[in-house]
Amino acid sequence: EHIANQIAAGEVVERPASVVKELVENAIDAGATSIEVQAEEGGLSLIRVIDNGFGIEPDDCEAAFYRHATSKLLQGRDLFQIRSLGFRGEALPSIAAVAKVRLVTANSELGLGRAIEIEGGNLKLNEEIAAPRGTDITVKELFYNTPARLKYMKTIQTELGHISDVMYRQALSHPEISFTFRHNGNTLLQSQGGGDLLQVIAAIYGINTSKGMVAIEAENLDYRITGYIGRPELTRSNRSGISTIVNGRYIRNQGLQQAILRAYHTLLPINRYPLLVLMLDMHPSLVDVNVHPAKLEVRFSKEPELNSFVEESIRSVLSEQVL
Ligand code: ADP
Ligand code: MG
Repeated sequence: EHIANQIAAGEVVERPASVVKELVENAIDAGATSIEVQAEEGGLSLIRVIDNGFGIEPDDCEAAFYRHATSKLLQGRDLFQIRSLGFRGEALPSIAAVAKVRLVTANSELGLGRAIEIEGGNLKLNEEIAAPRGTDITVKELFYNTPARLKYMKTIQTELGHISDVMYRQALSHPEISFTFRHNGNTLLQSQGGGDLLQVIAAIYGINTSKGMVAIEAENLDYRITGYIGRPELTRSNRSGISTIVNGRYIRNQGLQQAILRAYHTLLPINRYPLLVLMLDMHPSLVDVNVHPAKLEVRFSKEPELNSFVEESIRSVLSEQVL
């Protein structure tokens, strides 16, 4: 069991950003409307995720750290859950195998919850505690017992960059949730929640979105496209300003990326890239998320149709701006 968790940890917990990703996804799955993430030293000394979700039942807390203890069933609502199939019920045990973890959670408004502490896979504490509804999980000294893994970590700045990417992607994918992200006490992201995507874009890119961003809206029988594209004067010098979100999940797809750039570069200089947040909604049967469970890549079943629809939609919004 111990060994299995450390092996699984190598796959699930590659670096601090993977811990943040797994914990934030758990908070989202728990229906949180507010998620606060704190990190110190690039997440290597501390990662803390506080949510106001439905919490964990006291009797289930310890079991949540056992392998394959998942409370989640595949739901038609979100077939993207398949993504985590390989990791189902593996995140918490994997993280707890390579760090010092404290979990405080309550599943009612009664003010009573449970605290659990696990170090390197060993249970240290399991007791009743006063706690508000929701979950507060702290991960300290990541990889403290796997020095070989620790040696692979890059600078604090690099690890922080990866965590920031995770936070930006989650905030863009879930404008309905309020996200706060602090590193070494500095607030690096604060989104308000309530579904205001423009506010999230403003919070991340620090721009005047009401002037700078133009709405995209298009729909056919298979696809619905919404989102925002920066006015041509807000072009960027690299591709990192392009975010594609499918059915509420941040994804990457080569063909889609190329369709976007084709549309953009028929009207704008080839060395410039858009600031773009593209939300695509489609029937789950039109996306295949099983390309790689840990990665962002997906495949589309009607790829040429999707790509030309995206290309046309972006070109038509842009041509109004350029003319
Ligand atoms: P998975 O998310 O694949 O189910 P995890 O190891 O990430 O596996 O979590 C194990 C279980 O612990 C979850 O199924 C869920 O029941 C519970 N859990 C973890 N984090 C939270 C949270 N923030 N709020 C509520 N329940 C949680
Ligand atoms: Mg999980």
